Amino acid sequence: MDDIRELEELDKKHFLHPTSSIEQQQTSGPTFIFKKGSGIYLEDFKGNRLIDGMSSLWNVNVGHGRLELGEVAKQQMTKLAYSSCFATFSHEPAIRLAAKLAEISPGDLTATFFTSGGSEANDTAYKLARHYWILKGQPERKKIISRTKSYHGVTLGATSATGLKPFRDFTNSLATDFFHVDSVKSEALKDLIEKEGPETIAAFIAEPVQGAGGVHIAEGNYFREIKKICTEYGILFITDEVITGFGRTGDWFAINHYAVVPDMMCFAKGITSGYAQLGGVIISEDMFKTFKEKSSGTLLHGYTYSGHPMACAVALKNIELIEEEQLVENAKGMGAHLLDGLIKLKANQNNISEVRGLGLMVAIECKSGSNSSLSPLIVEKAQQKGLICRSVTFDGQDTIVLAPPLIINSDEIQSVLSILNETFTEVR
Ligand code: PLP
Repeated sequence: MDDIRELEELDKKHFLHPTSSIEQQQTSGPTFIFKKGSGIYLEDFKGNRLIDGMSSLWNVNVGHGRLELGEVAKQQMTKLAYSSCFATFSHEPAIRLAAKLAEISPGDLTATFFTSGGSEANDTAYKLARHYWILKGQPERKKIISRTKSYHGVTLGATSATGLKPFRDFTNSLATDFFHVDSVKSEALKDLIEKEGPETIAAFIAEPVQGAGGVHIAEGNYFREIKKICTEYGILFITDEVITGFGRTGDWFAINHYAVVPDMMCFAKGITSGYAQLGGVIISEDMFKTFKEKSSGTLLHGYTYSGHPMACAVALKNIELIEEEQLVENAKGMGAHLLDGLIKLKANQNNISEVRGLGLMVAIECKSGSNSSLSPLIVEKAQQKGLICRSVTFDGQDTIVLAPPLIINSDEIQSVLSILNETFTEVR
Protein backbone atom coordinates (compact mmCIF):
# COMPACT_ATOMS: atom_id res chain seq x y z
CA MET A 1 0.00 0.00 0.00
CA ASP A 2 2.90 2.35 0.79
CA ASP A 3 4.18 1.81 -2.74
CA ILE A 4 0.85 2.90 -4.22
CA ARG A 5 0.64 6.04 -2.06
CA GLU A 6 4.17 7.00 -3.02
CA LEU A 7 3.44 6.46 -6.72
CA GLU A 8 0.21 8.47 -6.50
CA GLU A 9 2.02 11.37 -4.86
CA LEU A 10 4.92 11.29 -7.33
CA ASP A 11 2.45 11.12 -10.22
CA LYS A 12 0.61 14.24 -9.03
CA LYS A 13 3.83 16.11 -8.35
CA HIS A 14 5.93 15.29 -11.41
CA PHE A 15 3.93 13.71 -14.24
CA LEU A 16 2.23 15.92 -16.83
CA HIS A 17 -0.13 13.40 -18.44
CA PRO A 18 -0.90 13.44 -22.16
CA THR A 19 -4.51 14.26 -23.09
CA SER A 20 -5.53 14.76 -19.47
CA SER A 21 -7.53 17.02 -17.20
CA ILE A 22 -4.91 18.61 -14.96
CA GLU A 23 -7.61 19.61 -12.47
CA GLN A 24 -8.86 16.02 -12.21
CA GLN A 25 -5.35 14.65 -11.92
CA GLN A 26 -4.50 17.07 -9.13
CA THR A 27 -7.65 16.31 -7.14
CA SER A 28 -8.08 12.57 -7.53
CA GLY A 29 -4.65 11.49 -8.81
CA PRO A 30 -4.31 8.52 -11.16
CA THR A 31 -7.39 6.23 -11.20
CA PHE A 32 -5.34 3.17 -12.07
CA ILE A 33 -1.60 2.63 -11.93
CA PHE A 34 -1.26 -0.39 -14.15
CA LYS A 35 1.29 -3.02 -13.37
CA LYS A 36 0.77 -5.85 -15.83
CA GLY A 37 -1.31 -7.06 -18.72
CA SER A 38 -2.40 -10.42 -20.05
CA GLY A 39 -4.67 -11.10 -23.04
CA ILE A 40 -7.53 -8.61 -22.98
CA TYR A 41 -6.90 -7.75 -19.30
CA LEU A 42 -4.96 -5.05 -17.47
CA GLU A 43 -4.15 -5.26 -13.75
CA ASP A 44 -3.25 -2.37 -11.45
CA PHE A 45 -1.22 -2.07 -8.26
CA LYS A 46 -4.31 -2.52 -6.10
CA GLY A 47 -5.12 -5.84 -7.78
CA ASN A 48 -8.03 -4.49 -9.90
CA ARG A 49 -8.41 -6.48 -13.14
CA LEU A 50 -10.09 -4.72 -16.04
CA ILE A 51 -11.02 -5.66 -19.60
CA ASP A 52 -9.04 -3.34 -21.85
CA GLY A 53 -12.04 -2.57 -24.05
CA MET A 54 -10.10 0.10 -25.97
CA SER A 55 -6.96 -2.01 -26.62
CA SER A 56 -5.47 0.86 -24.54
CA LEU A 57 -5.25 3.51 -27.30
CA TRP A 58 -6.78 1.36 -30.09
CA ASN A 59 -3.38 -0.25 -30.50
CA VAL A 60 -2.83 -3.45 -28.50
CA ASN A 61 -4.19 -5.62 -31.32
CA VAL A 62 -2.57 -8.94 -30.31
CA GLY A 63 -3.37 -8.40 -26.63
CA HIS A 64 -1.18 -7.86 -23.58
CA GLY A 65 1.67 -9.98 -22.25
CA ARG A 66 2.83 -11.54 -25.54
CA LEU A 67 6.17 -13.09 -24.64
CA GLU A 68 7.01 -13.66 -28.33
CA LEU A 69 7.20 -9.90 -28.87
CA GLY A 70 9.31 -9.35 -25.75
CA GLU A 71 11.68 -12.10 -26.90
CA VAL A 72 12.11 -10.59 -30.37
CA ALA A 73 12.72 -7.14 -28.86
CA LYS A 74 15.37 -8.57 -26.54
CA GLN A 75 17.13 -10.43 -29.34
CA GLN A 76 17.19 -7.38 -31.61
CA MET A 77 18.31 -5.03 -28.85
CA THR A 78 21.20 -7.26 -27.90
CA LYS A 79 22.22 -7.84 -31.53
CA LEU A 80 21.78 -4.34 -32.99
CA ALA A 81 19.89 -1.93 -30.73
CA TYR A 82 20.27 1.00 -33.08
CA SER A 83 21.82 2.10 -36.32
CA SER A 84 20.57 4.82 -38.63
CA CYS A 85 18.70 4.42 -41.92
CA PHE A 86 19.75 7.83 -43.23
CA ALA A 87 21.09 8.03 -46.77
CA THR A 88 22.53 4.68 -47.90
CA PHE A 89 22.70 3.05 -44.45
CA SER A 90 20.22 0.27 -43.83
CA HIS A 91 19.51 -2.82 -41.72
CA GLU A 92 17.62 -6.08 -42.07
CA PRO A 93 14.52 -5.45 -39.86
CA ALA A 94 13.60 -2.22 -41.69
CA ILE A 95 14.23 -3.76 -45.13
CA ARG A 96 12.15 -6.86 -44.38
CA LEU A 97 9.35 -4.85 -42.80
CA ALA A 98 9.14 -2.45 -45.77
CA ALA A 99 8.90 -5.48 -48.10
CA LYS A 100 6.22 -7.11 -45.92
CA LEU A 101 4.18 -3.90 -45.89
CA ALA A 102 4.28 -3.75 -49.69
CA GLU A 103 2.92 -7.32 -49.71
CA ILE A 104 -0.06 -6.72 -47.39
CA SER A 105 -0.97 -3.14 -48.37
CA PRO A 106 -3.67 -2.39 -50.95
CA GLY A 107 -3.01 -1.99 -54.69
CA ASP A 108 0.34 -0.65 -55.80
CA LEU A 109 1.42 0.85 -52.46
CA THR A 110 5.05 -0.07 -52.51
CA ALA A 111 7.62 2.00 -50.60
CA THR A 112 7.56 2.90 -46.90
CA PHE A 113 8.95 5.87 -45.00
CA PHE A 114 9.14 5.01 -41.28
CA THR A 115 8.34 7.30 -38.34
CA SER A 116 7.93 6.81 -34.58
CA GLY A 117 4.14 7.19 -34.54
CA GLY A 118 0.95 8.29 -36.24
CA SER A 119 1.25 12.08 -35.97
CA GLU A 120 4.70 11.98 -37.56
CA ALA A 121 3.34 9.65 -40.24
CA ASN A 122 0.64 12.16 -41.18
CA ASP A 123 3.03 15.13 -41.19
CA THR A 124 5.34 13.07 -43.38
CA ALA A 125 2.50 12.39 -45.83
CA TYR A 126 1.72 16.12 -46.15
CA LYS A 127 5.38 16.91 -46.77
CA LEU A 128 5.84 14.07 -49.25
CA ALA A 129 2.72 15.30 -51.07
CA ARG A 130 4.17 18.79 -51.34
CA HIS A 131 7.56 17.45 -52.40
CA TYR A 132 5.84 15.34 -55.08
CA TRP A 133 4.13 18.42 -56.50
CA ILE A 134 7.39 20.38 -56.50
CA LEU A 135 8.95 17.54 -58.53
CA LYS A 136 5.94 17.57 -60.86
CA GLY A 137 6.51 21.29 -61.51
CA GLN A 138 3.38 22.40 -59.61
CA PRO A 139 4.81 23.91 -56.37
CA GLU A 140 1.64 25.95 -55.80
CA ARG A 141 -0.16 22.72 -54.87
CA LYS A 142 0.29 23.03 -51.09
CA LYS A 143 -3.17 22.85 -49.53
CA ILE A 144 -4.22 19.87 -47.44
CA ILE A 145 -7.91 19.05 -47.04
CA SER A 146 -9.27 16.84 -44.26
CA ARG A 147 -12.67 16.13 -42.72
CA THR A 148 -14.66 17.49 -39.80
CA LYS A 149 -14.74 15.06 -36.82
CA SER A 150 -11.35 13.72 -37.93
CA TYR A 151 -8.36 13.13 -35.66
CA HIS A 152 -4.90 12.99 -37.18
CA GLY A 153 -2.58 13.58 -34.20
CA VAL A 154 -0.77 16.32 -32.34
CA THR A 155 2.22 17.55 -34.32
CA LEU A 156 1.53 20.92 -35.94
CA GLY A 157 0.54 19.51 -39.34
CA ALA A 158 -1.51 16.70 -37.83
CA THR A 159 -3.25 19.10 -35.42
CA SER A 160 -4.01 21.44 -38.31
CA ALA A 161 -5.54 18.56 -40.29
CA THR A 162 -7.56 17.39 -37.28
CA GLY A 163 -11.20 18.32 -37.79
CA LEU A 164 -12.13 18.16 -34.07
CA LYS A 165 -11.82 21.86 -33.30
CA PRO A 166 -11.01 21.64 -29.55
CA PHE A 167 -7.68 19.97 -30.40
CA ARG A 168 -6.73 22.95 -32.59
CA ASP A 169 -8.13 25.65 -30.31
CA PHE A 170 -6.28 24.32 -27.25
CA THR A 171 -3.00 25.70 -28.60
CA ASN A 172 -4.42 28.01 -31.25
CA SER A 173 -2.91 25.74 -33.88
CA LEU A 174 -4.13 25.87 -37.43
CA ALA A 175 -1.32 26.17 -39.94
CA THR A 176 -2.02 27.99 -43.21
CA ASP A 177 -3.06 25.86 -46.17
CA PHE A 178 -5.15 23.41 -44.09
CA PHE A 179 -8.91 23.15 -44.78
CA HIS A 180 -11.76 20.99 -43.48
CA VAL A 181 -14.85 19.61 -45.24
CA ASP A 182 -18.00 17.84 -44.13
CA SER A 183 -17.20 14.21 -43.31
CA VAL A 184 -20.32 12.66 -44.84
CA LYS A 185 -21.03 14.34 -48.17
CA SER A 186 -18.47 13.77 -50.92
CA GLU A 187 -19.84 16.80 -52.87
CA ALA A 188 -18.49 19.02 -50.08
CA LEU A 189 -14.98 18.09 -51.20
CA LYS A 190 -15.76 18.99 -54.80
CA ASP A 191 -17.20 22.35 -53.75
CA LEU A 192 -14.15 23.23 -51.65
CA ILE A 193 -11.74 22.20 -54.43
CA GLU A 194 -13.62 24.44 -56.88
CA LYS A 195 -13.64 27.31 -54.38
CA GLU A 196 -9.94 27.10 -53.49
CA GLY A 197 -8.75 26.23 -57.00
CA PRO A 198 -7.69 22.66 -57.84
CA GLU A 199 -4.24 23.86 -58.90
CA THR A 200 -3.53 24.88 -55.25
CA ILE A 201 -4.46 21.59 -53.60
CA ALA A 202 -1.89 18.91 -52.77
CA ALA A 203 -3.85 16.20 -50.99
CA PHE A 204 -6.98 15.05 -49.23
CA ILE A 205 -6.64 12.91 -46.08
CA ALA A 206 -9.28 10.79 -44.35
CA GLU A 207 -9.57 8.03 -41.76
CA PRO A 208 -11.55 5.21 -43.45
CA VAL A 209 -13.44 4.88 -40.15
CA GLN A 210 -13.22 7.95 -37.92
CA GLY A 211 -12.01 6.77 -34.52
CA ALA A 212 -11.45 9.46 -31.90
CA GLY A 213 -14.33 11.45 -33.43
CA GLY A 214 -16.76 8.69 -32.34
CA VAL A 215 -16.43 5.68 -34.70
CA HIS A 216 -18.12 7.09 -37.79
CA ILE A 217 -18.31 4.67 -40.70
CA ALA A 218 -18.55 5.99 -44.25
CA GLU A 219 -21.74 5.11 -46.11
CA GLY A 220 -21.84 3.08 -49.34
CA ASN A 221 -20.06 4.87 -52.17
CA TYR A 222 -18.48 7.70 -50.16
CA PHE A 223 -14.85 6.66 -50.66
CA ARG A 224 -15.30 5.63 -54.29
CA GLU A 225 -16.73 9.09 -55.00
CA ILE A 226 -13.91 10.73 -53.03
CA LYS A 227 -11.31 8.82 -55.04
CA LYS A 228 -13.05 9.81 -58.28
CA ILE A 229 -13.04 13.50 -57.29
CA CYS A 230 -9.35 13.33 -56.28
CA THR A 231 -8.45 11.65 -59.59
CA GLU A 232 -10.51 14.18 -61.58
CA TYR A 233 -8.65 17.14 -60.03
CA GLY A 234 -5.27 15.38 -59.81
CA ILE A 235 -5.26 15.53 -55.99
CA LEU A 236 -3.42 12.91 -53.92
CA PHE A 237 -5.65 10.76 -51.71
CA ILE A 238 -4.18 9.80 -48.31
CA THR A 239 -5.81 7.33 -45.92
CA ASP A 240 -5.01 7.57 -42.23
CA GLU A 241 -5.07 3.92 -41.09
CA VAL A 242 -3.36 4.67 -37.77
CA ILE A 243 -6.26 3.11 -35.83
CA THR A 244 -7.91 1.03 -38.55
CA GLY A 245 -4.82 -0.76 -39.88
CA PHE A 246 -3.61 -4.27 -39.09
CA GLY A 247 -6.93 -6.06 -38.78
CA ARG A 248 -8.95 -3.74 -36.54
CA THR A 249 -12.00 -3.56 -38.84
CA GLY A 250 -11.93 -7.17 -40.05
CA ASP A 251 -9.68 -6.50 -43.05
CA TRP A 252 -5.96 -5.76 -43.08
CA PHE A 253 -6.77 -2.12 -43.84
CA ALA A 254 -10.19 -0.47 -43.59
CA ILE A 255 -9.99 1.19 -47.01
CA ASN A 256 -10.18 -2.33 -48.51
CA HIS A 257 -13.86 -2.47 -47.47
CA TYR A 258 -14.47 0.25 -50.05
CA ALA A 259 -12.30 -1.27 -52.81
CA VAL A 260 -10.35 1.96 -53.19
CA VAL A 261 -6.56 2.33 -53.41
CA PRO A 262 -5.05 5.51 -51.92
CA ASP A 263 -1.88 7.25 -53.14
CA MET A 264 -0.45 7.16 -49.62
CA MET A 265 -1.45 5.24 -46.51
CA CYS A 266 -0.39 6.27 -42.99
CA PHE A 267 -0.12 3.70 -40.23
CA ALA A 268 1.17 3.28 -36.64
CA LYS A 269 -0.34 1.73 -33.46
CA GLY A 270 -1.40 -1.80 -34.53
CA ILE A 271 1.77 -2.36 -36.57
CA THR A 272 3.52 -3.26 -33.30
CA SER A 273 0.37 -3.69 -31.16
CA GLY A 274 1.90 -0.97 -28.98
CA TYR A 275 4.94 -3.10 -28.03
CA ALA A 276 7.26 -0.55 -29.68
CA GLN A 277 6.94 2.95 -31.11
CA LEU A 278 6.55 2.82 -34.87
CA GLY A 279 4.56 4.45 -37.65
CA GLY A 280 5.01 5.27 -41.28
CA VAL A 281 3.66 6.14 -44.71
CA ILE A 282 3.53 3.74 -47.62
CA ILE A 283 3.43 5.46 -51.02
CA SER A 284 2.22 4.34 -54.44
CA GLU A 285 4.41 3.01 -57.24
CA ASP A 286 3.62 6.17 -59.22
CA MET A 287 4.77 8.51 -56.44
CA PHE A 288 7.89 6.42 -55.87
CA LYS A 289 8.63 6.46 -59.61
CA THR A 290 8.35 10.26 -59.65
CA PHE A 291 10.75 10.48 -56.67
CA LYS A 292 13.19 8.13 -58.39
CA GLU A 293 13.06 9.87 -61.75
CA LYS A 294 12.88 13.52 -60.73
CA SER A 295 14.59 13.86 -57.34
CA SER A 296 18.00 15.39 -57.30
CA GLY A 297 19.75 16.13 -54.04
CA THR A 298 18.64 14.83 -50.65
CA LEU A 299 15.14 13.97 -49.45
CA LEU A 300 15.42 16.40 -46.54
CA HIS A 301 13.02 14.65 -44.22
CA GLY A 302 14.04 11.98 -41.70
CA TYR A 303 13.62 11.15 -38.03
CA THR A 304 16.42 9.76 -35.89
CA TYR A 305 14.15 6.80 -35.20
CA SER A 306 12.92 6.29 -38.78
CA GLY A 307 13.10 2.49 -39.08
CA HIS A 308 14.26 1.76 -35.51
CA PRO A 309 15.65 -1.83 -35.63
CA MET A 310 13.92 -3.11 -32.49
CA ALA A 311 10.57 -1.53 -33.43
CA CYS A 312 10.78 -3.02 -36.95
CA ALA A 313 11.69 -6.48 -35.61
CA VAL A 314 8.72 -6.32 -33.21
CA ALA A 315 6.44 -5.21 -36.06
CA LEU A 316 7.49 -8.16 -38.23
CA LYS A 317 6.76 -10.61 -35.41
CA ASN A 318 3.48 -8.85 -34.61
CA ILE A 319 2.33 -9.16 -38.25
CA GLU A 320 3.35 -12.83 -38.16
CA LEU A 321 1.17 -13.34 -35.05
CA ILE A 322 -1.79 -11.60 -36.72
CA GLU A 323 -1.38 -13.92 -39.73
CA GLU A 324 -0.79 -17.16 -37.79
CA GLU A 325 -3.62 -16.61 -35.35
CA GLN A 326 -5.95 -15.34 -38.09
CA LEU A 327 -6.73 -12.24 -36.08
CA VAL A 328 -8.10 -10.31 -39.06
CA GLU A 329 -10.77 -12.99 -39.47
CA ASN A 330 -11.29 -13.08 -35.70
CA ALA A 331 -11.83 -9.31 -35.63
CA LYS A 332 -14.48 -9.75 -38.32
CA GLY A 333 -16.27 -12.62 -36.54
CA MET A 334 -16.03 -11.24 -33.01
CA GLY A 335 -16.92 -7.76 -34.29
CA ALA A 336 -20.15 -9.15 -35.79
CA HIS A 337 -20.83 -10.96 -32.51
CA LEU A 338 -20.26 -7.79 -30.48
CA LEU A 339 -22.46 -5.70 -32.77
CA ASP A 340 -25.18 -8.32 -32.58
CA GLY A 341 -25.05 -8.14 -28.78
CA LEU A 342 -25.19 -4.33 -28.90
CA ILE A 343 -28.28 -4.44 -31.12
CA LYS A 344 -29.95 -6.62 -28.46
CA LEU A 345 -28.72 -4.25 -25.73
CA LYS A 346 -30.31 -1.32 -27.56
CA ALA A 347 -33.62 -3.22 -27.78
CA ASN A 348 -33.60 -3.65 -23.97
CA GLN A 349 -32.37 -0.22 -22.96
CA ASN A 350 -34.27 3.02 -23.52
CA ASN A 351 -31.16 5.17 -23.11
CA ILE A 352 -29.47 3.98 -26.33
CA SER A 353 -30.44 5.60 -29.63
CA GLU A 354 -28.05 3.85 -32.06
CA VAL A 355 -25.31 1.26 -32.23
CA ARG A 356 -22.84 0.81 -35.08
CA GLY A 357 -19.55 -0.91 -35.83
CA LEU A 358 -17.09 -2.30 -38.31
CA GLY A 359 -15.01 -5.23 -37.08
CA LEU A 360 -13.80 -4.54 -33.55
CA MET A 361 -14.50 -0.83 -33.66
CA VAL A 362 -17.96 -0.07 -32.29
CA ALA A 363 -20.03 2.83 -30.95
CA ILE A 364 -23.12 3.25 -28.77
CA GLU A 365 -25.06 6.52 -29.02
CA CYS A 366 -26.63 7.47 -25.68
CA LYS A 367 -29.94 9.18 -25.06
CA SER A 368 -29.83 10.92 -21.69
CA GLY A 369 -33.25 12.58 -21.46
CA SER A 370 -31.57 15.53 -19.71
CA ASN A 371 -29.12 18.22 -20.75
CA SER A 372 -26.05 16.45 -19.43
CA SER A 373 -24.24 13.67 -21.30
CA LEU A 374 -24.78 10.11 -20.20
CA SER A 375 -21.67 8.53 -21.72
CA PRO A 376 -19.10 9.83 -19.16
CA LEU A 377 -21.21 8.34 -16.35
CA ILE A 378 -21.55 5.00 -18.17
CA VAL A 379 -17.80 4.91 -18.76
CA GLU A 380 -17.07 5.61 -15.08
CA LYS A 381 -19.49 2.95 -13.85
CA ALA A 382 -18.35 0.37 -16.41
CA GLN A 383 -14.80 0.97 -15.24
CA GLN A 384 -15.83 0.25 -11.64
CA LYS A 385 -17.30 -3.02 -12.89
CA GLY A 386 -14.12 -3.95 -14.74
CA LEU A 387 -14.50 -2.63 -18.30
CA ILE A 388 -12.51 0.18 -19.90
CA CYS A 389 -14.35 2.02 -22.67
CA ARG A 390 -14.30 5.65 -23.87
CA SER A 391 -16.81 8.49 -23.94
CA VAL A 392 -16.88 10.91 -26.89
CA THR A 393 -18.68 14.20 -26.28
CA PHE A 394 -17.22 16.39 -29.07
CA ASP A 395 -19.72 18.39 -31.14
CA GLY A 396 -22.57 17.59 -28.76
CA GLN A 397 -22.17 13.84 -29.27
CA ASP A 398 -22.94 11.48 -26.39
CA THR A 399 -21.17 8.34 -27.55
CA ILE A 400 -19.39 5.35 -26.05
CA VAL A 401 -16.72 3.69 -28.17
CA LEU A 402 -15.09 0.29 -27.79
CA ALA A 403 -12.20 -1.38 -29.63
CA PRO A 404 -11.07 -4.50 -27.74
CA PRO A 405 -7.95 -6.52 -28.67
CA LEU A 406 -8.34 -8.66 -31.81
CA ILE A 407 -7.67 -11.84 -29.79
CA ILE A 408 -10.96 -11.49 -27.91
CA ASN A 409 -13.14 -14.64 -27.82
CA SER A 410 -16.91 -15.06 -27.57
CA ASP A 411 -16.95 -15.62 -23.76
CA GLU A 412 -15.02 -12.39 -23.33
CA ILE A 413 -17.41 -10.56 -25.71
CA GLN A 414 -20.19 -11.84 -23.47
CA SER A 415 -18.44 -10.37 -20.40
CA VAL A 416 -18.18 -6.99 -22.16
CA LEU A 417 -21.90 -7.10 -23.03
CA SER A 418 -22.92 -8.14 -19.50
CA ILE A 419 -21.05 -5.25 -17.93
CA LEU A 420 -22.59 -2.81 -20.42
CA ASN A 421 -26.06 -4.22 -19.77
CA GLU A 422 -25.66 -3.92 -15.97
CA THR A 423 -24.32 -0.38 -16.33
CA PHE A 424 -27.07 0.87 -18.65
CA THR A 425 -29.70 -0.74 -16.39
CA GLU A 426 -28.25 0.98 -13.34
CA VAL A 427 -28.37 4.48 -14.83
CA ARG A 428 -31.89 4.09 -16.28
N1 PLP B 1 -4.26 9.31 -36.73
C1 PLP B 1 -5.27 8.72 -36.10
C2 PLP B 1 -6.46 8.29 -36.88
C3 PLP B 1 -5.21 8.50 -34.71
O1 PLP B 1 -6.26 7.96 -34.08
C4 PLP B 1 -4.05 8.91 -34.01
C5 PLP B 1 -3.94 8.68 -32.57
O2 PLP B 1 -4.87 8.27 -31.90
C6 PLP B 1 -3.02 9.54 -34.72
C7 PLP B 1 -3.16 9.71 -36.08
C8 PLP B 1 -1.81 10.01 -34.01
O3 PLP B 1 -0.96 8.95 -33.72
P1 PLP B 1 0.15 9.09 -32.58
O4 PLP B 1 -0.56 9.30 -31.29
O5 PLP B 1 0.89 7.77 -32.66
O6 PLP B 1 1.02 10.23 -32.95
